[in-house]
Amino acid sequence: MKVEQNALLTPYNTFGVAARAKRLVRIAKRSDLGELESVRGDDPLLVLGLGSNVLFTKDFEGLVALNRIRGVKRLEAGENGEYRFRAGAGESWDALVRKMTAEGHPGLENLVMVPGSVGGAAVQNIGAYGVEAAERIESVEIFDREKSEFRTLTNEECDFGYRSSVFKTERGSKWVIVSVTFALPAVTQWKPVVGYKGLTAALAGKTDPTAEEVLEAVERLRRAKLPDPKEIGSAGSFFKNPVVPELQARALLEDYPQLVAYPLGGRRTKLAAGWLIDAVGFKGRTKGRAAVWSRQALVLVNQGGAAGSEVKALADDVISAVERKFGISLTPEVAIL
Ligand SMILES: Cc1cc2nc3c(=O)[nH]c(=O)nc-3n(C[C@H](O)[C@H](O)[C@H](O)COP(=O)(O)OP(=O)(O)OC[C@H]3O[C@@H](n4cnc5c(N)ncnc54)[C@H](O)[C@@H]3O)c2cc1C
Repeated sequence: MKVEQNALLTPYNTFGVAARAKRLVRIAKRSDLGELESVRGDDPLLVLGLGSNVLFTKDFEGLVALNRIRGVKRLEAGENGEYRFRAGAGESWDALVRKMTAEGHPGLENLVMVPGSVGGAAVQNIGAYGVEAAERIESVEIFDREKSEFRTLTNEECDFGYRSSVFKTERGSKWVIVSVTFALPAVTQWKPVVGYKGLTAALAGKTDPTAEEVLEAVERLRRAKLPDPKEIGSAGSFFKNPVVPELQARALLEDYPQLVAYPLGGRRTKLAAGWLIDAVGFKGRTKGRAAVWSRQALVLVNQGGAAGSEVKALADDVISAVERKFGISLTPEVAIL
C-alpha cells in the first residue's frame, strides 16, 4: 500500500475542512487489510468511507485509511424470493440505490441521495423518509484487525438502532467493514413506504407509486432542503433527533403546541431537533465561516474556508441554546474528531 505523508483531507470530508492526516492509505482490495496493522504501527487509525459524517476539528495525528473496496455481486434469491446481493464497503451508497432501482429491485429508493459509502451506511444505520438501512441489511462482513481474520456478523449481531450500530462501540472500533449483504423484498412483496411527512404530498397523493416514482419524489424533496456537498460543505443533519420520555414530550407540547413530535412506542417520543433549533432562533445564524443552514436548521454548513473548530463552536452554541430553553441535550450525529 502506498503511504502518503502529511495528507490534506479536504477532498475526503464533505464539510470540506482543510485538516491533515499524518499518513494516509487507500484500501483497494481485501488483501490490503492484512497489511493495515503493520502500516499503522502505534498510530491511531481512522477508517473513512466518503467522509460525509465526520468533522475534523484538528489535524489527525495518525493513519487515515480510505475504504475503496468495490464490487457488487448478485447472490442466490432468499427463501421468500428476496433479491440478495453483496456490495463492497467502498461502493457509493447513492449509486447503489440508483442501480438497484433502475434494474427493478425495489427497497432502497427512500434512501437515495444519502451521500457516503456502503460501509458508512452500515456504521450509521442511515435512515431517511421512513426507511433505515438496517431493514435491508442481511449481514456485514468485517475484518477484525486484532485477530487478523474476516468474519460475518448477522443483522442481529450488528445491534442496529437509531443512527447506531455495534460498529460505533469500542468493540466495533477494531473492525473494518469489508462488504455488506442486502436482502431486498421480492417485487411481488414490496410495498412503497410513503407515509413519511412531506413524501405523500411530493407524490401528489399517489398511494401506489412505483419505486422510481418514490426515488424521484425523495430527490425533489432533498434538493429543496439540503445543501449539495459539491457546492456547500456539510455532513447533512448535524444532530440526532432527541428521544425523550412521553411525559416530558407531553409537558413540552403544552407549552409549545407547534413542537414536531413522533410517538415511538415504549412511552418514548422523538422530537424534531430541527424544530428545536429553529425555535431558539438559530436558523441561518452564522459564527465565523460556519452557519446553520437557512433551509433546514438541523444542518450546519461551511460557508467557505471554515475550520472544523468553527463549526464545532457553532454546534456548541446550538446545544447550549436548546438546553437553556427546552432542557434537552442535543447530541451530534456527526463523528467529531
Ligand atoms: C448532504 C448530506 C445529507 C445527508 N443525509 C443523511 C440522511 O438523510 N440520513 C442519514 O442517515 N445520514 C445522512 N447523511 C450522513 C452521511 O451521509 C451518512 O452517515 C453516511 O452513511 C456516511 O458514510 P461515509 O462513507 O461518508 O462515512 P464516513 O463519514 O467516511 O465515516 C463515518 C463513520 O463510519 C466509520 N466508517 C466508515 N467506513 C467504514 C468501514 N468500512 N469500516 C469501519 N468503519 C467505517 C468512520 O470511521 C466514521 O466513524 C448526510 C450527509 C450529507 C453530507
